[in-house]
Amino acid sequence: MYKKALIASLLLASTAAFAAAPAVSATAAGAPSDTAVSAAKYAVETYRNDVIDTLARLVTFNTVVDARYPSDKNPVHIAFKAALKEEAERLGLDYADHGWTVIVGLGKGSERVGIVTHGDVQPVDPSKWKKSPFVLDRTSEPGKLIARGAEDDKGPIATALYAMKTIRDRQIPLNKRIELYVYMGEESDWGPLTEFLKTHVPPQMSITLDAEYPVVTAEKGGGTVAVTIPKAGAVVPEPGASYIAEFRGGSFNTQIPEDAEALIVNAPAAIEQQVRARGANHEGMQYTFERQGANLKVVAKGMSAHSSKPQEGVNAVSMLADALAVQAWPNTVAGGVVNYLNDLVGTGYYGEKFGQIAYRDSFMGPMTFKPTVIRQLDEGIEVAINVRRPRGKTNEQLTSEIESALTDWQARRLPLANIKVGVRDPWILEGAPQVPVLLSTFSYFTGMKDAKPVAIGGGTNSRLFPNAVSFGPSMPGKKYTGHSEHEFITTKQLLLNLQMYTAALVELAK
Ligand SMILES: [Zn+2]
Repeated sequence: MYKKALIASLLLASTAAFAAAPAVSATAAGAPSDTAVSAAKYAVETYRNDVIDTLARLVTFNTVVDARYPSDKNPVHIAFKAALKEEAERLGLDYADHGWTVIVGLGKGSERVGIVTHGDVQPVDPSKWKKSPFVLDRTSEPGKLIARGAEDDKGPIATALYAMKTIRDRQIPLNKRIELYVYMGEESDWGPLTEFLKTHVPPQMSITLDAEYPVVTAEKGGGTVAVTIPKAGAVVPEPGASYIAEFRGGSFNTQIPEDAEALIVNAPAAIEQQVRARGANHEGMQYTFERQGANLKVVAKGMSAHSSKPQEGVNAVSMLADALAVQAWPNTVAGGVVNYLNDLVGTGYYGEKFGQIAYRDSFMGPMTFKPTVIRQLDEGIEVAINVRRPRGKTNEQLTSEIESALTDWQARRLPLANIKVGVRDPWILEGAPQVPVLLSTFSYFTGMKDAKPVAIGGGTNSRLFPNAVSFGPSMPGKKYTGHSEHEFITTKQLLLNLQMYTAALVELAK
């Protein structure tokens, strides 16, 4: 089933033109059964505090990837798994540690329903948090549970544990075993999970708790376009000339950057005024200016977001480059970075200035294309652009269009080094049998009628499991806070998820 789904998505991805919406729409099943609804009610009445306490425990472990160890040797990951084991056993669930992957189970049988989650987290910048990102902050903002991992993906793990506990408490007869998968490398390395699934037979169908509602049946393909503006080949400015001497920003590749800064050498007052005026038009941006003799430092602050949702953030790197676009800058290294960004990216995020690459799909939406990290290297400055692409072009076509835009730019401006272009296929799953049940569960508990499958820009481990679709944890239209420096889940959402996961699991496993 896995291979079939993969081949189908590859075929779809390689077909050039898509005019119509795909056949992924599914009609909702009838309302959830009384058993499912009463179990959901019991779950929220019985475990509303416990689920938060378990979340509080899980977020205390900074399970970010550590370059010193693989996950199965990482002491923090080992401690996190020990806590998870205690929680599982306390709740009467079985537990198996497979190294990078943990499975928490309920019931017996070869017919199974999976729940796909992950226990690792993205890096944080603690200076941007009111309290420690690794202590669940329940008080700073009433109604919000703030911590790294609260939404992505420890909140969903805690919720799944109590949904399973509820089914156990209620002694609901199951035809299928329920298995909660907690993978420890989702944010950094899918290789060990891919390897694991070569010998471990996964459940016949799964729900992934790592994206949004109602149901996600397609995910854009990720990618990166990284280039270095090299010192070799850059312009040496004339004495006394104005030029950009420094440009930096961003934190990691899957985050819309919140911070950026630049240094203009020999910046007369007129330039400062122009940059200030241009920056003042940037909604959501804050600029601070610091005079250093004849030089001017410009510090830009935007708003971080998951890189699959650029519209939910304000990209400090793109905006700062635009604020500086008040004159033609010589192609020093940092000036070259600013020119590259302004020539080829601009303040949009659909790749519309980057040659002919922009396109969209009617179901999956537009390709997004946005700078995320500006890295200072010995040989120059690297600009990394994060790509999320729908179906409608082959990898070969998109790659060659990107390369030709880079070739044109180099002919006009200056040579680039270390060009790395990598784009992956999007993923589309059609005909997953659980979709109608998930849609009707979602509609019942949210009152949002006419729910339909959606496509997202992010990538989840759904694509490694057969018949896996994302079901939450965030509501459609709400800002996704995972990967941001203000990650939280509301208590209301956590408890709504508890009800929906309980009901859905009852329906799928009974
Ligand atoms: Zn995640």
